[in-house]
Amino acid sequence: MQALILEQQDGKTLASVQSLEENRLPEGNVTVDIDWSSLNYKDALAITGTGKIIRNFPMIPGIDFAGRVHSSEDPRFHAGQQVLLTGWGVGENHWGGLASQARVNGDWLVPMPKGLDGRKAMIIGTAGFTAMLCVMALEDAGVLPDSGEIVVTGASGGVGSTAVTLLHKLGYQVAAVTGRESTHDYLRSLGANRILGRDEFAETRPLEKQVWAGAVDTVGDKVLAKLLAQMNYGGCVAACGLAGGFALPTTVMPFILRNVRLQGVDSVMTPAARRAQAWERLVRDLPESFFSQSATEITLEQAPEYASKIMSNQFHGRALVKIA
Ligand code: NDP
Repeated sequence: MQALILEQQDGKTLASVQSLEENRLPEGNVTVDIDWSSLNYKDALAITGTGKIIRNFPMIPGIDFAGRVHSSEDPRFHAGQQVLLTGWGVGENHWGGLASQARVNGDWLVPMPKGLDGRKAMIIGTAGFTAMLCVMALEDAGVLPDSGEIVVTGASGGVGSTAVTLLHKLGYQVAAVTGRESTHDYLRSLGANRILGRDEFAETRPLEKQVWAGAVDTVGDKVLAKLLAQMNYGGCVAACGLAGGFALPTTVMPFILRNVRLQGVDSVMTPAARRAQAWERLVRDLPESFFSQSATEITLEQAPEYASKIMSNQFHGRALVKIA
């Protein structure tokens, strides 16, 4: 099998495509022949060694994959069946999806939802799955299309692009926050009604004029603090990311004076029933155009180069990795 292997040398992370014997795969009851994977922000952190994502080397990164079951000791899965996987620590502490095969616990696999194939599933990937969870979190908080405008930060990234697309399709008015003028046309084509510069979110007062009914935040830090200060009474922020930093320099004011809800969103340990619901929604709510607009197809060999592009904010949309 072929795999992108991460190794450590003198405290630096080295990434290279290598051939491996299949018997080196980790323990698990289902072996999958992988057709597609993708690059998410967490993969970029791991591959470039920027974040302390990986503690045990050598590691195969790739927090998601789609493929066909090669062999299974789990009665729920049979050889040839199409499956996908996101999260569960795969690609972090268990060999992951940037390889031609993976061996995993059957509990982590999702049968390919009707209406999807492996390629589309990985254009969505962890990023799109997380965007859907964020939209569902807003709905759960009672934020509906007629509640008012929704703001999406880090809008041209994987989570942001999918959130803009989903919200637009569902009938919400969407404002996209981006640090790059070069992505404005792309964001408009996905359905953003207006676009704001990231630099407008640099300074915050504890409370500001109320602007947003809801927010999907992938950035954290000062940007999230500003969103909180600008939420409408009773609004909800679905916070899933830290592309701008993990700090949160805010006050209690939005919470105690405006009944604002800060809803955390995690995709890694999402329970199976919620996962199935989110994938069903993605099949139903993502327009066909999304798959051609947002995806850039790359090879396993190109993964390190694109991981660097993601870290230096020179990539937009989703990096789809063709494995087979
Ligand atoms: P991408 O790299 O695809 O997108 C991140 C976007 O954030 C960029 O495109 C850019 O958007 C913006 N950005 C980049 N650097 C900065 C910065 N220094 N300050 C402010 N904004 C910045 O990543 P993903 O979409 O895959 O992930 C987004 C975030 O969500 C990450 O922090 C990731 O870890 C997190 N995440 C969390 C998950 C969870 O389960 N909670 C699951 C998936 C992702 P633009 O150029 O438009 O400003």
